[in-house]
Amino acid sequence: MAKAPWVDQDECISCGLCVDNVPSVFRFAENEKAECYDPQGAAEDVIQSNAIDVCPVACIHWKE
Ligand code: SF4
Repeated sequence: MAKAPWVDQDECISCGLCVDNVPSVFRFAENEKAECYDPQGAAEDVIQSNAIDVCPVACIHWKE
C-alpha cells in the first residue's frame, strides 16, 4: 500500500500552508485543523516538499 500523510491535529496551528500548497490532498476540517482528505491527491515528493517539509510545527507524518 502507498504511503499516506496524516496530520497530528493536536499539534496543528492552522497556519494553512499545507492547505494552500497542496489543496488536492489537505483541507481544513470542521475543527479548523488541517486534515488529509485524499492521500493519493498528489505525488509523494510533492506532499513531502510542499507540505511536510514546510509545516512550521512538523505535525504532518507518513503512515505506511
Ligand atoms: S502546515 Fe502544519 S500547522 Fe499549518 S495547517 Fe498544515 S498541518 Fe497545520
